[in-house]
Amino acid sequence: MSYRAEFRCFAGCDVSFPLTRPIYRCPKCNGLLEVAHDVDALKDRSAAAWMKLFDDRYKRTLWPYGSGVWGKREWVSPDVQDDEIVSMDEGGTNLFWAERYGRGLGLTDLWVKMCGNSHTGSFKDLGMTVLVSVVRKAVREGLKVRAIACASTGDTSASLAAYGAAAGLPVVVLLPRGKVSTAQLVQPLANGALVLALDTDFDGCMTIVQRLADEGVVYLANSMNALRLEGQKTVGIEICQQFDWQVPDWIVLPSGNLGNAAALHAGFRMLKDLGVIARYPRLAVAQAAAANPLYLAWTAGKREVAPVKAQETLATAIQIGNPVSAPRAMRALEAMNGVVEQATEEELCEAAARADRSGMYACPHTAVALAVLEKLVARGVIARDARTVVVSTASGLKFTEFKVGYHERRIADASCSQANPPVHLAADYGAVVDAIDRRHRAG
Ligand SMILES: *Cc1c(COP(=O)(O)O)cnc(C)c1O
Ligand SMILES: [Zn+2]
Repeated sequence: MSYRAEFRCFAGCDVSFPLTRPIYRCPKCNGLLEVAHDVDALKDRSAAAWMKLFDDRYKRTLWPYGSGVWGKREWVSPDVQDDEIVSMDEGGTNLFWAERYGRGLGLTDLWVKMCGNSHTGSFKDLGMTVLVSVVRKAVREGLKVRAIACASTGDTSASLAAYGAAAGLPVVVLLPRGKVSTAQLVQPLANGALVLALDTDFDGCMTIVQRLADEGVVYLANSMNALRLEGQKTVGIEICQQFDWQVPDWIVLPSGNLGNAAALHAGFRMLKDLGVIARYPRLAVAQAAAANPLYLAWTAGKREVAPVKAQETLATAIQIGNPVSAPRAMRALEAMNGVVEQATEEELCEAAARADRSGMYACPHTAVALAVLEKLVARGVIARDARTVVVSTASGLKFTEFKVGYHERRIADASCSQANPPVHLAADYGAVVDAIDRRHRAG
């Protein structure tokens, strides 16, 4: 196997670095890096041969191919050896046919990619398996790291802590105090990470962790590090694979730091470059109205994203005012004929409740994407017969406070019109029958 990948400057400066180098920015222009693959080498296999190889490996137990990420290792990180890989069987998540919820919107071909059905409950595992594996390789080759570290709105730290613990590598996480769910806070504690809860927001944590990385104190695990995106890009590839290598018409993605939007594009670009697909799906980036810097830039026709102060939102994982991957996301939007739309707290609450009533259990970020889907369908941007995939980024089970708040009607600025609180009754047979009757008559 002579496939190669290396870091290159995203803006095109003539520099390249091995993936094991702890480097996060281009030394010439200070811009973002990307992982560049030797696509010509990969063309030694035909599109049909790649599809067959990936299908043969998909969800089997042969290490490390059962992982949806490592089943595509040649396209992800070809230099990492089997015994360097730190994997928890990421990917291979259900592509859920949202039949009943879709029908409520007049859609016939709506799917939800359940990326939250993962080891730590969010799609972050897809990128973290690659990053931690490459760090383990680098450490074996002599790299000295005091710790792998990230700033997080909750899910990145949960994922990093788990993968770090599995590899026996020390982890430090910087969280905005009081702004992550109980589950998200407990996850890195349980996995033994040093958890630093700072009196700031995500953007404030990010500033500090970037300095720690720049000064060589830690290895940076945020999605500024292009290694994360290599794992995350398998979502697009896997969606395609699950449709028997057909391209959907639309993908709706909840976004904050905008790394995942860029990763999605990278996955489809690889499929296109290697002849597996002939066109891109269209991309709808969904932002919370409370933290909408990309939406503001995009609707004003600007290519530069100006930072905003992110306001409080129930979608805490995307409460980000200064998205690191904004230039990458802009490129994704242009390539994929994209749109950007936002959702208010009321809209996301009601969309989550509607989805839940059809059997889902949407986290608030997935709810932002669902609310945006509803708006784009109502406006006729997404056609009713379009094959549409909403990316669900985390498990609703991590966001119990959100669900309880809704069903107890304790969310400010939200009508909670579908709240379904428990009915408290005496232990009396007749009272129970009456309650069932009342619900039955209400239909
Ligand atoms: C990280 C995260 C996002 C946002 O992804 P970005 O790459 O930062 O845009 C969305 N939803 C959940 C649940 C997340 O954890
Ligand atoms: Zn550069």
